[in-house]
Amino acid sequence: MCFHVGMEFRPRSLPRLTYRFRMLGMGLAALPVVVVLHDLQAGWLAWGWMIAGCFVWPHLAYWLSSRSRDSYRAEVRNFLVDSAIAGSFVPMMHFNLLPSAVLLTVATADKVNAGVPGLWRRAMPGMLLALLVSGFLHGWAMDLTSRTLVVAACLPLMTIHTLAVSANLYRLMRRVQVQNRQLEALTQRDELTGLDSRGHWRNQATSRIGQLRQKPAPATLLLLDIDHFKTINDRFGHAAGDDVLRALAGLLRDCLPEDQVSGRLGGDEFGVLLALPPDQAAHAADALRAAAQALTLPAHPGLRFSLSIGLAALQPEGDLRDWLEAADRALYRAKDSGRNRTATALATMF
Ligand code: GH3
Ligand code: MG
Repeated sequence: MCFHVGMEFRPRSLPRLTYRFRMLGMGLAALPVVVVLHDLQAGWLAWGWMIAGCFVWPHLAYWLSSRSRDSYRAEVRNFLVDSAIAGSFVPMMHFNLLPSAVLLTVATADKVNAGVPGLWRRAMPGMLLALLVSGFLHGWAMDLTSRTLVVAACLPLMTIHTLAVSANLYRLMRRVQVQNRQLEALTQRDELTGLDSRGHWRNQATSRIGQLRQKPAPATLLLLDIDHFKTINDRFGHAAGDDVLRALAGLLRDCLPEDQVSGRLGGDEFGVLLALPPDQAAHAADALRAAAQALTLPAHPGLRFSLSIGLAALQPEGDLRDWLEAADRALYRAKDSGRNRTATALATMF
């Protein structure tokens, strides 16, 4: 009866969060118990236990979990006590049908909604044991009928509990949705360059191949690798190397057509899909190389870099793997024949 859902998120303010919900839940649970105890003209033991369970326990639970080093575990224990308290109220109310059913259901639903695996099952033995102990203390009299006032006294717990749990679940689901979106965006971007990450680029390229199969159009893959990048790192430092990678990403955006699909495939290697036939793509690649060679970075005077580019046109029968292999072989030739050049894959290479 503490309404708290989503404990698996383990917020730092967990004790305070559950405190408010537990006070509300236990306070509302007291309503039908008070009416039934009044009807039964219950003794001091029953009244005392009702006050302890509904009005003292929430503060004690907060005190226990806020001073515990592991407030999460402490709250799990508190949850088990909540269920035991609900179970103990049942014989005290002579098994009055509606409030008994509502208290046990709400206590169990809280365990399910807490999101702690198996908590509701773990709470069952304690709830049953408390019911038995309470039965021995208060007797086993049964008076199942719930008069109108008892029904009315159950309503706040039933309605407010349901609404509070729904609101909490809604908030939680919204948070999960937002976090999922953020996570997806993070995995799609290469942090350093802002280009597509390797995985996202591959997905984009695969779906582009699918589109081109449906509706054939020219497409060329460029594989780019910075020449002697290790030496740049060694001479100017890793931070300068990072600046080069960022600058190259800027060049891709500025020098190549807008409908490009550009990604950093790893280290100093980049992949670009262009919606151009290979001869035009080779011109674009040469212009890009010239821009890279001309580029100066004000923060690193004397730093210059060049690119080797392997280029492959999409063949109708090939898939992404074939396409990448062909461009990679072309890139290897560009490196092998002196670097700072563009090499085009032969169609027979697929
Ligand atoms: P080649 O001309 O044959 O390509 O020679 P290279 O020195 O460029 O060799 P290679 O492409 O294998 O080197 C890649 C280097 O890129 C190795 C690694 O230290 C460096 N590197 C990988 N990731 C990063 C990064 O995020 N930042 C920086 N600064 N360097 C990186
Ligand atoms: Mg390199």
